[in-house]
Amino acid sequence: MEGGYVNEAIISYTNPKLQIPLMASAIYAPTTTSTSPTAGTPTSATAATSQNASASLSSPAGPSSSPGSAPAGAGGGPLQGFVAKLRNFKFQDTKNIRKRFHFDYISKDRFLGGQLKTKNGQKYVFNGPPSGVYVSKACLIIAAFITVLALLFTIVITYFVTRQGFPPKEATPSCITNDHHDVNATPIQTAGWVSMNSPPPLDGATPTPTPTPTTTTSKATTTTATLATPTSTEADEIKLVDPKVGDIPVVVTPIEEIEDNTTKPTNRPLKLYEGWRPLHYSLIIEPSAETSSSNGSLTIEIERDVTKVTSWEPIVLDVHNVSISNVRVIRALPTKPGSVNEEQELEFDSDYGEDNATFVIGLDKALAGENQLRLMLSLDFISQVTDTLQGVYKTSYTNPDTNKEEWMISTQFSPIDARRAFPCFDRPDMKANFSISIVRSLQYKMALSNMPKSHTSRYRKGYVRDDFLITPKMPTYLVAFIVSNMQDSRFATLDSEMTPRVEIWSRPPFMDMTHYAYKMVRKFLPYYEDFFGVKNKLPKIDLVSVPDFGFAAMENWGLITFRDSALLVPEDLELASSSEHMQYVAQIIAHELAHQWFGNLVTPKGWDDLWLKEGFACYMSYKALEHSHPEFQIMDTLTMLEFKESMEHDADNTSHSISFDVKSTNDVRRIFDPISYSKGTILLRMLNSIVGDVAFRAATRDLLKKYAYGNMDRDDLWAILTHHGHKEGTLPQDLSVKQIMDSWITQPGYPVVNVERRGADLVLSQERYLLPSKNSADQSSWFIPITFETDELHKGDNIPTHWMRSQDENELIIGNVFTHNSNSDNVIYLNLNRQGYYRVNYDMTSWLALKKNFSTLPRITRAQLLDDALHLSQAEYLTYDIPLTFLMELFDAVDDELLWSAAKPGLNYLIYNLKREPAYETFRAFMKFIVRPAFDHYGLNEPDNESHLQLKHRALVAYFACKFNYDRCTQVAQVKFREWMRDAKKNPIKPNLKSVIYCTSLAEGSSPEWYFAYKQYKTTTSASEKEEILTSLGCTTKPWLLSKYLNMTINPTSGILKQDGALAFRAVASNAIGHEIAFDFLQGNIKEIAEYYGDGFSTLSEMIKSLTIYMNKDYHKHQLLDLAATCRKLGLKAVESAINLAMEQVNNNIYWRSHSYHSLKNFLEGIVSEFQINIF
Ligand SMILES: [Zn+2]
Repeated sequence: MEGGYVNEAIISYTNPKLQIPLMASAIYAPTTTSTSPTAGTPTSATAATSQNASASLSSPAGPSSSPGSAPAGAGGGPLQGFVAKLRNFKFQDTKNIRKRFHFDYISKDRFLGGQLKTKNGQKYVFNGPPSGVYVSKACLIIAAFITVLALLFTIVITYFVTRQGFPPKEATPSCITNDHHDVNATPIQTAGWVSMNSPPPLDGATPTPTPTPTTTTSKATTTTATLATPTSTEADEIKLVDPKVGDIPVVVTPIEEIEDNTTKPTNRPLKLYEGWRPLHYSLIIEPSAETSSSNGSLTIEIERDVTKVTSWEPIVLDVHNVSISNVRVIRALPTKPGSVNEEQELEFDSDYGEDNATFVIGLDKALAGENQLRLMLSLDFISQVTDTLQGVYKTSYTNPDTNKEEWMISTQFSPIDARRAFPCFDRPDMKANFSISIVRSLQYKMALSNMPKSHTSRYRKGYVRDDFLITPKMPTYLVAFIVSNMQDSRFATLDSEMTPRVEIWSRPPFMDMTHYAYKMVRKFLPYYEDFFGVKNKLPKIDLVSVPDFGFAAMENWGLITFRDSALLVPEDLELASSSEHMQYVAQIIAHELAHQWFGNLVTPKGWDDLWLKEGFACYMSYKALEHSHPEFQIMDTLTMLEFKESMEHDADNTSHSISFDVKSTNDVRRIFDPISYSKGTILLRMLNSIVGDVAFRAATRDLLKKYAYGNMDRDDLWAILTHHGHKEGTLPQDLSVKQIMDSWITQPGYPVVNVERRGADLVLSQERYLLPSKNSADQSSWFIPITFETDELHKGDNIPTHWMRSQDENELIIGNVFTHNSNSDNVIYLNLNRQGYYRVNYDMTSWLALKKNFSTLPRITRAQLLDDALHLSQAEYLTYDIPLTFLMELFDAVDDELLWSAAKPGLNYLIYNLKREPAYETFRAFMKFIVRPAFDHYGLNEPDNESHLQLKHRALVAYFACKFNYDRCTQVAQVKFREWMRDAKKNPIKPNLKSVIYCTSLAEGSSPEWYFAYKQYKTTTSASEKEEILTSLGCTTKPWLLSKYLNMTINPTSGILKQDGALAFRAVASNAIGHEIAFDFLQGNIKEIAEYYGDGFSTLSEMIKSLTIYMNKDYHKHQLLDLAATCRKLGLKAVESAINLAMEQVNNNIYWRSHSYHSLKNFLEGIVSEFQINIF
């Protein structure tokens, strides 16, 4: 109870008809005078007069559970009006309405205080912790007068000020956030500055060097692609020193002279060229932040590969904005015993391929007759160092000692950007060994690559060359290097006897934020080695925190790169991270370490099976966390979080199957979406439950041993799993994993299993879950594992007992599930522990039985029911009375953190779609009513030593309480924020509550709060704190600040990193006031945004997707069409799929608004009216 706090619910309950005048006197006038102020016991006459009705509301075994009793349902009494309303909304079963609406569950001990008054004047006083201010009669008149004034003032203010909520902070890590965000990529322009077709510089004014590859048939054995003769005097300064092969051409190219065409649109077809494969790359590269280019030389040992094509094919290297020169093709002549190897230089033709996306070398066909032809291909190259966080890229930070900007070089080659760094066979099945050497200026103190450094030598004045040990066979996308002045945390020195050697690198201010990450690595490595039965293969693992990094992390073998917030956990109390953030860091580290086996040691053959490595890494990260932190109960989190991520993206008509034919560069980037990560995780977990733990583990071990250093595809995994499933007896002998999985892998979407009771039997059928509404024309069907329990049968494990075979008839009948034909009170629930990737829709009898016995159900089942009910209603499989009934369980289930987290996705959907509608008022009132007991219990004060789950739960309860404007929450949040503003150096806000307190305070506040937060953003050294603030900066309701904020995202001096652009944009777009400002900003600046962010991380696509949150009217469609036209005009083809998706979401929202809105509104009004819930 906060000082001076007036319990608004009580006020309204007691004064339903004349709220404003009576509310004043209602500061306890009619009720508190008769209510014990401290004990909260209903000593009042009010309670006495309401005895009859309160009994019906407060007893779980009340009249509603014994139909026919006086106040029950249709039988008259206080609920009569409500029941009548409900009848209008097509309730089929009035006898059970009260059960559905939980009235018989609101018991004295559960209701934590408050009163209800029905329309016929009866009052119900609920016991619980006292709330409100108690005054004597003498004070009443004065208090009433003051309160009238205060309330009138509040009402006036409320009327004029549109209160805004805050965007949900999607900080909860799911696998999609791990090493790739949704990369629905922006395509990059083809070889801009190496383009042979690019027009010559105009009158020499633009000194654009256009390296023109000269195509020759070379008798002199060397084809040289030379830089075009510059036409300007500045360009004359470009010097190309022809080096010897194996040396690096030194080119001095002023940064501004390199034409950057990376943002020009392209979506290249992805062709796979067969006929040759690499064995060994020897790469020497000198990346330069100053010149924004890398000079390098490369020798690739290649071998003719006739396993796929027997025809004589040219050698085709992938390139992107790479200029190639000094090409040589050398062949080792057969060696005579005792003699030195002789080399023969071969003649060849060479040219850049279509769109300059390849470099093609044609050899004399006469060589075709030779068996096992091996060649050495050597060349020099110049590639770009980008600032778009892809390929070899540069990024800068301020050195706190010198206060000067320092540059560093990092790499991000996955999925298809190694070709930006050096010519290569850039696909996952072209594995080879790599000898990497880095040339760096002495101003950079360190260089790292995948393997340990073997040797450092002087290269030329001011430069050294670091040579690294040869890597195992691996694909190009895992190659990585760093050149910087980062510092290690000395873990390797301290634990020098441990293998592998583990070190964490960061900028100096962050060195003491690496302990948590190191501890996690040391926990997870032995777990994986044991689980997989295979030792970690590389002698060292470096983890590097990169100042600006597009993904959360990248699993480069032996050199894992992270964005700051995914690796660094401050230990300083002032900066301490939230529990959620620590779990996020732990999970990302676990994910990337799992990749050292799945992905790195064994790699999927093609892009279409890439989901396998991501699914495995995600699923293994959950297993590792479950092992290291059982108290996190992380597997339960999986059942909500990954299902939310996956099902949300898998419900549209435009969803794609998890394995799809990758045809273009856009497709490759598109793979890294929640379908690959979250659906992959869920499907592997489902497989685990199908074959059981023993078989699953044995299969992973076999797979890793059998395909080590090689490639596999899903059929290889299915075969091994089938073998072990049969061996263990868990998989029926007549079933193979392939039979089961094909239906899940090759078609998009997921099923709803419909459950119907027929006597003692159960009849199951399936249909696809589709938005905006179910479509009976859709014939998709799946091979579904069925598990169930009843109150008479408890299964004990997750292995399926029945199968819905997709090719079978529509129904599966399970006989004698119940012992009696009259079983309406018996519960049945399917999909135990949510092991299967589907939702369950029950018949009405089963829903009601589940509702009645809700508190006795398993924890995950309870959460599942709420989540399924909300989403089934969203797509019209159910009416909204069912999910509203289950939502009311939150009122009682104050401590059930999984149930609360299950409510979040469905509630957020409702919030967004109602926020700008009249019904939001009643919805908010209803939710505030539901959330209040939990918030009153937890509040915004965090005690020390609370468990991980409690800390997370408190934050979630506060999130809802403040979001629905429960004034206890919003007021205390502001008080705490102002306390921080008074002394910026001492932040009194506990880490777990930062996101809700920051956002609420910025939403309720104005410029001072906003500028204070922005200043803290710039000064804090904590990356997670930066992200919290970035999100909350979008919570303000001041349009000019929102507009300013958006403009800052494309201003490099604002301090907002490119990696965070989409996050900041989303924060504004998910604000009901900011949404239109965000749309205007995007429409007006789209060209600039596309150029600023490049194509690697789909920032623009992400922005477009977050625009649709509030779009649910017809004119929004036209807005989106205009945006699509602008994109087309600018040639931004890569955002096409994002726009299509956005259009579908807008259509879904429009459909929902025209079909479900009114029925939901009526249900809500029924509840609010019946309970006399104050709508303010
Ligand atoms: Zn991954």
